[in-house]
Amino acid sequence: MGTMSSVNVATPAQPANAIGRCQVCGSMRQTAPVTFNRNIGMIVLRQTRSISGNMCKTCLGKNYWQFMGLNLLLGPWGMISLIITPIYFVTNTVSYFSAAKKLRGAVE
Ligand SMILES: [Zn+2]
Repeated sequence: MGTMSSVNVATPAQPANAIGRCQVCGSMRQTAPVTFNRNIGMIVLRQTRSISGNMCKTCLGKNYWQFMGLNLLLGPWGMISLIITPIYFVTNTVSYFSAAKKLRGAVE
């Protein structure tokens, strides 16, 4: 009986964070799921904007800094906003670093 060595050339076991489509720029790259929030303080009213999806390393960093900047600029205008905005700073940073850790080996 000849060995049926069907040479299925290296289908490597998919790593946890496989190549996927970045939901921001749409390119096929290594992505990690992440969520960022930002607050828009309007003295009395308040709005929250968030972004959530699988992002590549580039979009991850870009969105992190964008959300941080807009939080700082538009965030802390109001009583509740003054409390919420620093919380978003922390949660965004935690999200960023946990996603960045998953994408450590990815090409920028
Ligand atoms: Zn991207």
